[in-house]
This record gives sequence, C-alpha cells and structure tokens, in this order.
Amino acid sequence: MDKDFYIHKTNNYIFIINMRNGDFTHISKSELNQADESTLINLKKQSLVSHANQSMDEFSLDNVKVLFLSIHASSNCNLKCRYCFRDFNNQSTDLPTEEIKVFLDNAIKMYRNLEKIIVDPSGSGEPLMNMELLEYIGAYCKEKSDELSIEVLPMLVSNGLLLDETNVSRLRKSGILFGVSIDGNRKQHDVNRQDVHHQDTYKKIMKNLKHIKDKSLLGAAVTLNASNLDIISIYESLINFFPTISVKPARSNTIYGINQSNIDSALKAYTDFAEFLIKKSMNGDLRYIAAMLNGDDYFGKFLSRIILKQAVSTRCDAGFGRLSLSYDKKIYACPAAIGISELQVGSLSEGVDEKKQRFIYELQMSRSKCGSCPAKFVCGGECLVNSYYSTGKIDVLDNVMCKLKRHLYWQSQIVYAYLLENNPRLLNILYEWSLEKANRFNIDHEINDVLQKHPEYTFTTIKSLKDHHDPKFDQLKSK
Ligand code: SF4
Ligand code: SF4
Repeated sequence: MDKDFYIHKTNNYIFIINMRNGDFTHISKSELNQADESTLINLKKQSLVSHANQSMDEFSLDNVKVLFLSIHASSNCNLKCRYCFRDFNNQSTDLPTEEIKVFLDNAIKMYRNLEKIIVDPSGSGEPLMNMELLEYIGAYCKEKSDELSIEVLPMLVSNGLLLDETNVSRLRKSGILFGVSIDGNRKQHDVNRQDVHHQDTYKKIMKNLKHIKDKSLLGAAVTLNASNLDIISIYESLINFFPTISVKPARSNTIYGINQSNIDSALKAYTDFAEFLIKKSMNGDLRYIAAMLNGDDYFGKFLSRIILKQAVSTRCDAGFGRLSLSYDKKIYACPAAIGISELQVGSLSEGVDEKKQRFIYELQMSRSKCGSCPAKFVCGGECLVNSYYSTGKIDVLDNVMCKLKRHLYWQSQIVYAYLLENNPRLLNILYEWSLEKANRFNIDHEINDVLQKHPEYTFTTIKSLKDHHDPKFDQLKSK
C-alpha cells in the first residue's frame, strides 16, 4: 500500500490525497474516459509530491494571535432543553465582576502578540438573565480595546426568549455581537427546546426575531440532533431571518445526539444537503452557501478549508488560545471542558499552568490516534471534550464522529470538484468569502495606520468610523 497517498473513488471522481501534508487533487469522469486510470493517478500524484512534510510547531504562547476567553458566570437558564449537557443540580453562584476582571486581565497579559480577543460571557445557561453583567463585559471590552489598540469583541449566544427590543438595544449599545440558538422549523425546534415549564418556545423566539431591525450580524446556532436531521429544512426555515447559520452536531454519547443508531441518517442528510447547496448555488442562489461559510458551521468549516486548501495542525485551540473561567473559579481549556479535571489548566487564585497548556497542545498536535485518516489535515483530530464524554478519556477517537467527519470531508471534496469543473468563477467567489472570513481574526492594518497617524483618537472611535463608512475615516486615512 502506498503510504504517501490515499486514493478514494466515488461514482463521479477519484480523489488523491497527499498523506504528508493534506494536499489533494481529483480525476473526473470525463478525464477517465480519455485515458487509463493508473496513468492518470500517477500523473496526479506527481502534481502533489513537491510539498514538504508538515512540521510540528513548537508550543509558544507568542504564536497565539487570537484569544478566546469565556466566562461561566452562572448556569441559570430559562429553558430546559432535552439534550442540554448542563448539570441541573449544580450549585452555581454568580461570579463577582471584580473576579471576572482579574481573570480577563491576567489571561490577556500572558500573550504578547495578540491581534484579536473574543470575550464570551454565554456560560452554560442563558446569558441574558444577567444583563448587568453583559453591560459590564461590554464596557470592559471597549476599555481594553482602547488600551491595547486591538479589537476586544464581546459575543454570545442567547436562547432568544429574552431578546426583546429593550435587551437588543442594551446589547447593541454595549457593542455585543449575539447569535440565537434555534433548531430549525417549529417542529424541529420545539421537540427539544422547551422552557422550564415544558412549554414550547419557537413562537416566542420568532416574535422576538421579527422585532430586530438590523439582522445583518445575526447568526443562528443550530444543534443537529436525533430529532432534526433534515438539514435542508433547517436551512430553508432560517434563511430569511439569519445571514449566518451554524449547524453543529450534538454530542454522540446521548440518545438525543448523533449516535450509532442514527449516524447513517445523518450521513444521508449531509449528502442531500451538499447536493442542495450545489443546485442552489449553480442556479444563482448563493444565500445558503454564504450563510454556511460565514459562521461556525460544522460542514462549513470543512468546505472552507478545502476551498482555501488550508491544512490545520490541531482540532482547535483549547487550552492555549482558549481559556474558560467557571463559576467555581477554576480555569478550563474551553467552555465545554468545564468539570473535566484533565482539561483544567489553572484557577483564578493560582493562574494558568503553562505545563498543562503545553500538554494539551502537544496532545492535539500529535493526533496519534488519527493515523492514516485522509481527513486529518482538515478535521484536525477528535474534540477532547467529546472524547471524554464518549470514552472517559480525552484522547480517544469517537467512531461515530469520525464517520461523520470523514463524510463531511469527502462531501466537501465533491462540492469543490464539481464547482471547479462546472463553475470556476463561483468557486473563486467562495474562495474570496472564505479568505475574508479567515482574515476576520487578523489585525486590521487600515485602522492601525490611522491610529499611528492620529494617536489623539481611540481604537474604538476609529473602528466605529470605519464600520459606519463615515467619510471622516477616509479623511483621517489620507492625512
Ligand atoms: S475523522 Fe477521526 S481519525 Fe480522521 S482526523 Fe478526524 S478525528 Fe482523526
Ligand atoms: S475541545 Fe472540543 S469543545 Fe473544546 S474548543 Fe476544542 S473542539 Fe471545541
């Protein structure tokens, strides 16, 4: 067996993956009609051999450009979703703002080359149940942005029940970007997402959404679970309300999640959805693929990495570019890791332990269990939290999720190959979008240049001028 290349055949394509660096190419049916298969495969392999082995980056906090800080101030919630992972019996106490500030200040101080900081106060409950805290976080982020001259962006996901006009205006005034958890159409949503009195919530949320005038920055966060596996219906029901839709699978270790009993239906749902995306896009309706690529969609991540030909070294930045403060003042590798002792990296009183950060980083980099999986340069490896909840250990593969991820990898390859052959101009547009999204986390050099010329202005003032297309921004730029 050729260890350097992985060959995958579908009805319409032969895909060839370079197993040293993830580079890929394909042979289509029309090419196969003109030449023999093994000659073409060898020719295509040659086009992939020039790339070097992927090198292992040394662990250093100086390499972190984007820092995600989340605060689990409380787990109070006004919903009781069937698939919720929250511990309903935990004795959560609300964290005082002074302690939250200590966490944020100390975490930021650990990094020297940050270009953007995201602060997420969502917690494991409903963040809008504590609007005062959110306003405090908004003010903190503004102050920190001006102090550091980089964007410190507060963002959260709400369940939408309290998203009335007053709260929307308070969030917007505080500069907080927000998304809404919603699971598709009414039937798909209400089956799981009920309030604490077991009442349906879809109608109430939609009523709130209708009042939001500017929806340009609004995202939908959808949990894909055993009851809403029709992804096309999810997108069709949300597309008129949200410019960004992010569908992510629920954990595989519960009967409500994507598990052994429904994985085949999930794979079929994604195959249908990939065909739907191609059809809609080829007919000139780019809303669906744009909504998917714009956010944090599970399939969208695979597709944008394939479009950009981007190889990743780790599944995520948990523990080194991402820290989460829990209500009991411990610091974990990410919000979902709260309560998993192997993923605790410090505490408010003792700070973050760099040795633990290094351990998590190296564990992720090695992807020792991924072996010869063709998807590893796009998938990045197993989620440590999912691994823990499925197997009790943080570094074991979850076969159900691997099946799903490999399927998404091949579906992304199919979408890419189809567009490359049939509509390269469209593929180029998607490339530009994916690139724009990937660069969203980079430093804004234009704002930086204006700040250098005009130190009398603050970062947030210049950014606001730019965001609102104020002519004054161009004047300042040119002087
Ligand atoms: S699909 Fe599974 S085996 Fe393949 S890279 Fe991802 S986590 Fe590893
Ligand atoms: S460990 Fe899993 S849940 Fe945590 S940030 Fe990484 S992918 Fe997300």
